[in-house]
Amino acid sequence: TAAIDVTDLRKQYGNVQALDGLSLTVPEGSFFGLLGPNGAGKTTFINILVGLVRKTGGDAQVFGYDVETDYREARDAIGLAPQEFNVDRFFPIKEVLEHKAGYHGIPTAEARERADDVLKRVGIYEKRDTRFDWLSGGMKRRFMLARALITEPDLLILDEPTAGVDVQLRRDLWKLITELNDNGTTILLTTHYIEEAERLCDEVAILDSGRVVDVASPEELMDRG
Ligand code: ADP
Ligand code: ADP
Repeated sequence: TAAIDVTDLRKQYGNVQALDGLSLTVPEGSFFGLLGPNGAGKTTFINILVGLVRKTGGDAQVFGYDVETDYREARDAIGLAPQEFNVDRFFPIKEVLEHKAGYHGIPTAEARERADDVLKRVGIYEKRDTRFDWLSGGMKRRFMLARALITEPDLLILDEPTAGVDVQLRRDLWKLITELNDNGTTILLTTHYIEEAERLCDEVAILDSGRVVDVASPEELMDRG
């Protein structure tokens, strides 16, 4: 089974056809890029996969689970690091992670271990008792990745993970997500930076006006100009 299998996906907001017959297959284990101008439908596509937005047509499956009729199974396979942060601000970040793990049925002792582990992996373990609000912008990014990883997802979706971050953090994030992919996690990454896609992705889909207009390796895309 593919990690993501989407056929003729449609989403209409009022008069706006945000997705207009989008079809795409993301193979299991791949590092897949999603490129396209603002308004192309990238966020809508992601939001349908994670059950935040209801499609108006077509078919969407994650590891063979329908994102609507098998919502729980599909959602549990996905870790999402969204562009916009919306996090419990009143609790230490470690507790936010433990709470999320608990919500996904992970026992308390294991939740604690996993929280420590992901905070170490993203490099903010020493901030574990700090509230989200008090983190720097870069640390917030790191935390959002930790939050996506706490459930050990088979599919990690990263929406513009390096937009506006400094060089050091970009390198750290690239290294981390490449390691995750090497260990078998399927990655779907949206980006505005073609160089980022070229460096990281096996395959890239170009979205425009709610459709896939091209799928190719980054090298092929660069050659086409
Ligand atoms: P991208 O992430 O590629 O920038 P989006 O999925 O955010 O694209 O948007 C696709 C289209 O859908 C745009 O025209 C956008 O204005 C519209 N859109 C997105 N969300 C909504 C919404 N909640 N209500 C109305 N229109 C929306
Ligand atoms: P999902 O619940 O599908 O994993 P999110 O990651 O957006 O999607 O939501 C998980 C987080 O949202 C949890 O950390 C939890 O704090 C909060 N949450 C959502 N719904 C509930 C609920 N019914 N009861 C308690 N917490 C909830």
